[in-house]
Amino acid sequence: MGRPAKATINLDAIKKNYRLSKSLRKNSKSVAVIKANAYGHGSVEVANTLNDDADAFGVSCIEEAIELIDAGINTPILLLEGFFDQDELDYISKNNIWTVIHNSEQIEALKRANLSHPCKVWLKADIGMNRLGFPLKNLEQAHCTLTTLKNVSDIVLIGHFSSADNLDSRMTLDQLKKFITHTENINSPLSLANSAGILAWPNSELDWIRPGLMLYGASPFEKEMPGIQLTPVMTLTSEIIAIRNLNPGERVGYGGIWSASSPCRIGVVALGYGDGYPRGAVSGTPVFIQGRRSSIVGRVSMDMVMVDLSNHQNTYIGSEVEFWGEHISINEVSSCCNTVPYTLLTGLMPRVNKKYISTNKNT
Ligand SMILES: *Cc1c(COP(=O)(O)O)cnc(C)c1O
Repeated sequence: MGRPAKATINLDAIKKNYRLSKSLRKNSKSVAVIKANAYGHGSVEVANTLNDDADAFGVSCIEEAIELIDAGINTPILLLEGFFDQDELDYISKNNIWTVIHNSEQIEALKRANLSHPCKVWLKADIGMNRLGFPLKNLEQAHCTLTTLKNVSDIVLIGHFSSADNLDSRMTLDQLKKFITHTENINSPLSLANSAGILAWPNSELDWIRPGLMLYGASPFEKEMPGIQLTPVMTLTSEIIAIRNLNPGERVGYGGIWSASSPCRIGVVALGYGDGYPRGAVSGTPVFIQGRRSSIVGRVSMDMVMVDLSNHQNTYIGSEVEFWGEHISINEVSSCCNTVPYTLLTGLMPRVNKKYISTNKNT
């Protein structure tokens, strides 16, 4: 019924990937990162799936936390970007939300506030990205101030790698070393590793890990990491809604950027950039149809994209086409679009129906 564009989300695979992240860091607690609607997968569904396993959930902002709390999630939630206004602090304190503190304005707001319960805060250090956090030389001072505040209960120290997805870069080990050196005299738990840190940098094992992308079965690395088996979570499919037979020289789609070099058969599929399939996908980007690979041809439109059916004679109107997921790795698609799997997953549009599957409800 209705438009066939569909994202099938395998909740068992999310659990499996989560457990893989834990198996790589047995002694760490874990913040499962489900910001941006769980990277497009649906934050409430993903939170329900991981509620018994994760030690905390990571979101960007209070709006994302409220959505989870309203849905009955009782695992602690960490605001990875902290709070933006002092008026958020009442809700944060009442609902046992943890917040990142990355600047002195936030410390001032915590000083001024009159809260019913003290908050757990994650004090952010800037270890070299020059994005959020206190410069390392000011970290001890900021920590010291926080320990004197009646509105603060526990403190965790958090930093974020800038280049952990680059296996050849020396920056990650430098940043790790700086973070450890500057926190030596501070008595608080430490947290650094995101997915790339967990998968590729074993020395980044600290008190807390923060897996995001890997939970969704995608790799943060451009090249494959031997020995690491992530399970795909989202399979994006739609159906063929028209078929054309073309003579050599006939062109396909907007701009006519692709033309048939020999007689060929083209399928029109109901999925386009209005669904989140990237317009930047070039002719040749793989798809999976009836047990075999094929590829897209011509420019992606808002609601449609064309695929080559020359070697798929047994396809009809209604045949299913997979764009990424079980058979086509999202990393392969993202490299054909000159982007990363993060943007493809978070770019999934609400009009794509989500179907959740789970074979074993009790694990
Ligand atoms: C998004 C985010 C993560 C998760 O990163 P992945 O690369 O998706 O694993 C971890 N830590 C912070 C602070 C983040 O903002």
